[in-house]
Amino acid sequence: MAPSSLAQMSELLDAVLAGASPEILSATPMPEVTRAVFVRREDENMFEGVVSADKDPRESLHVGEVPIPELAPNEVYVAVMASSINFNTVWTSIFEPLSTFGFLDRLGKESVWGKRHALDYHVVGSDAAGVVLRAGSAVRNWKIGDEVTVHCNYVDDQDPSGHDDSMLASNQRIWGFETNFGGLADVCVVKANQLMPKPRHLTWEEAAVNALCNSTAYRMLASRNGAPVTQGDKVLIWGASGGLGSFAVQHVLNSGGVPVGVVSSESKAETLRELGCEHVINREAMNYRFWKDEHTQDESEWRRLGKDIRALIGEDPDIVFEHPGRSTMGASVFVAKRGGTIVTCAATSGYMVEYDNRHLWMKLKTIKGSHFSNYREAWAANQAIIDAKVVPPLSAVFDLESTGEAAFEVQHNRHEGKIGVLCLAPREGLGVSDHETRDRLGDRLTIFRRHDKERS
Ligand code: NAP
Repeated sequence: MAPSSLAQMSELLDAVLAGASPEILSATPMPEVTRAVFVRREDENMFEGVVSADKDPRESLHVGEVPIPELAPNEVYVAVMASSINFNTVWTSIFEPLSTFGFLDRLGKESVWGKRHALDYHVVGSDAAGVVLRAGSAVRNWKIGDEVTVHCNYVDDQDPSGHDDSMLASNQRIWGFETNFGGLADVCVVKANQLMPKPRHLTWEEAAVNALCNSTAYRMLASRNGAPVTQGDKVLIWGASGGLGSFAVQHVLNSGGVPVGVVSSESKAETLRELGCEHVINREAMNYRFWKDEHTQDESEWRRLGKDIRALIGEDPDIVFEHPGRSTMGASVFVAKRGGTIVTCAATSGYMVEYDNRHLWMKLKTIKGSHFSNYREAWAANQAIIDAKVVPPLSAVFDLESTGEAAFEVQHNRHEGKIGVLCLAPREGLGVSDHETRDRLGDRLTIFRRHDKERS
């Protein structure tokens, strides 16, 4: 950063860290530039001909200084204390399945304010915890100095298609993925209706890792818009110690359901057991081979998984929590119980999925698509964290300069739970103001951290 902007940023940071009053924060000059993590339009084709696994986020994610855009009336600037790595940043960084510049260009055509987003760099990141620095003239419920977390549902509230459920809005977007000015920066720009109160018992890095995955899992398993779990429901959860899965397990337990977690190592299984997931399947140890080759699935392997689930819980799952996609969808549809639901929000291993439709229709099963969450669901999911009913699955913390490295870890499935990224926060452990709740949660807050340390 230029010396003046560096000085301004550190003045601002000092004020935020000192818990300065709104008056002092308002009087502290706003920097014109911010440090941020971005991909460049000129790199869109840099991985042409490279297989997905070899496309390296460390090469495409840059950390540098970018201008802070003008603030729209319904927006705020947030001083980002911490952010997190979501898989969408991995997708952006490898330009798969599409370059995200197409999203920015489309947003750029929508309105005067949208135009700001269509740039030759894309600042990524769809989670943030921090402090409101400035509020636009139309912002009513938030003020400078408020400590917030940010959810990533970016919706035009004047679009009638989203009035019942904002996820149904025809121009719904994910902030920091389909918009610019995301959370992996010192200052981000968000709509005021993306803000939620920061859970006071959490550090900045703990508070920053929840909104995206927690809200997504909440809609899938706790909302009437997904496949809501009721008492006694058995739920098969793929990737149960990953970003989505670690929240899914907690929502199932909170609803009185019985999670069956699938993971790929014994150490992940131990993490899950400590989280309260009694039934765990280690897919590596069981060596399921759902695909015989690239084109052919093996029903006997689906059956083997089904038998293993029955051996654990005595019956077929009412709900399957799906996101790996191509590698598991056939098995998921097969193992769900008669009348059961497969709720899916992703396809990490490939989106051209294949399943045997006979198992779906003859056994009256339902496949339910889901995507992030509407405002109500995001708020409810955040409330579950505030109420200490859901704990953040923070496993590791990187600094902003090492975001590429952190994304690489997630891309290669080397992590558990969520990876936090320190932005303005100078070190871990800051931001707690409710010590009582923290003490009450005790070791539960550090399950993923401890297991990650034991692994490495
Ligand atoms: P994550 O932290 O990487 O966790 C995914 C887990 O899935 C991994 O821990 C891994 O667990 C398991 N997995 C990966 N490949 C698998 C395979 N081939 N077969 C079986 N299990 C596999 O990622 P995440 O944050 O949970 O996100 C998962 C996917 O959901 C990503 O594609 C992401 O983009 C998407 N997503 C979508 C939304 C939405 O709103 N639509 C929201 C969040 C995430 P084990 O190796 O331990 O089995």
